[in-house]
Amino acid sequence: MTKISIVGTGYVGLVTGTCLAEAGHEVICSDINKEKISLLQKGVCPIYEPGLEELIKKNVEKKRLSFTTNVPCAIANTQVVFSAVGTPMGENHEADLKYVKEVAKTFAQTLKQREFKLFVNKSTVPVGTGDIVKKIISDNSKNIDFDVISNPEFLKEGAAVNDFLKPERIVIGFSNQKSKEIMAEVYEPFTRQQSPIMFTDVKSAELIKYASNSMLATRISFMNELARFSEVVGADIKEVAKGMGFDSRIGPKFLQAGLGYGGSCFPKDVVALIESAKQVGVNLELLKSVEKVNFIQKTIIVDKLEEELGDLKGKTIGIWGLSFKPKTDDVREASAKYIISKLLQKKAKIQAYDPITNENFKQEFNFDITYCSTKEEVCKSANALVLITEWDEFRIFNSQEILGLMNSNLLIDGRNIYNPKKIQEKGFKYLGIGR
Ligand code: NAD
Repeated sequence: MTKISIVGTGYVGLVTGTCLAEAGHEVICSDINKEKISLLQKGVCPIYEPGLEELIKKNVEKKRLSFTTNVPCAIANTQVVFSAVGTPMGENHEADLKYVKEVAKTFAQTLKQREFKLFVNKSTVPVGTGDIVKKIISDNSKNIDFDVISNPEFLKEGAAVNDFLKPERIVIGFSNQKSKEIMAEVYEPFTRQQSPIMFTDVKSAELIKYASNSMLATRISFMNELARFSEVVGADIKEVAKGMGFDSRIGPKFLQAGLGYGGSCFPKDVVALIESAKQVGVNLELLKSVEKVNFIQKTIIVDKLEEELGDLKGKTIGIWGLSFKPKTDDVREASAKYIISKLLQKKAKIQAYDPITNENFKQEFNFDITYCSTKEEVCKSANALVLITEWDEFRIFNSQEILGLMNSNLLIDGRNIYNPKKIQEKGFKYLGIGR
């Protein structure tokens, strides 16, 4: 059992802290956001993440997990400090490290003499951040008995608990044998269950995370670009993806054409990698195109709507799904944000529904749209129905009821979840992406 603190109790920090407690460690999660910590202290999970609230309750009861706003105290009382603060997109597209730097300072101020402590960077950060953190700590403390580890996180929102408990890989970037041993002990309950652990140098670990996200983003943009071609020549991109996926060198995952990638990671990580390479004189041409293709793809649906409905002024568009992907309440960089913003510029009226995210979306974007409480309500007098996020709830619906509520029969499937032939047989005019 290791005493661990987590600094930054967001999507990553909370899942990390809870799952490390579940593995048997004693964990204290800290955050400067009082509201978040107060909810957690009452046993309420501040984010929507399947299975997380139950696991939090279980570990709080077992006295392995606690929450505090006193960040220095949490750091002072633990040997291993995971920093999981945000690294949002900065002004010049580079990763903004201000929160990481704040944590490094606090870490330095709490270092005691003759006590070896680890700063474990869980946030996604550019190559070289480990050195920056090391320097901040050295500059702010007389104690040199510490080390900085890179331990990037690969969990997926919506499946985060399972991803953390059964990781496909654990990556540890280290420079000191003692740190390696401590990290091996922290992750022992996971490696005991056959999860592979890779020890490497700090810079390679930092780059593994950016490289992985950028590779996934590249696959998405590749398929989206081909979807545009596919549509013109009369092929079906879903069939193309299926055929490609049988090839073991390619595999079936991340080949779905749709409305582009969003969320709190891929968009900022791709541009941050481009920017950090530029700063050392390396031009990442391929990734620049990946980003450009994604930008176009996010609002491709608006072009389709204009082709079908002409001037969108005064037209009512019903929207199913607002979160950036299903099974999460995260709306950061969601395609819905871009689509709705463009539709509002064109003076369309929006009626939207998301099973979980209506409130988050309302607070985050302040759009003048109507939020509906059911998927059917969205369709009332709608000139088109657009599926943006493929929540399971949207896979099955009563066609006659929906068509009866709408002012037209136009259904645009932004995620290619419906069978075009079957939908058309039910009386809809169906448009997908690349098919
Ligand atoms: P988040 O915004 O949900 O959480 C960050 C938390 O840090 C917030 O609660 C904030 O209040 C807190 N914080 C900021 N400054 C602090 C300070 N000085 N002391 C204590 N707390 C502080 O962010 P997130 O989505 O959890 O992402 C965190 C990092 O993990 C990012 O670098 C991100 O790129 C990376 N990451 C995210 C995911 C994901 O799916 N969300 C997956 C892998 C990696």
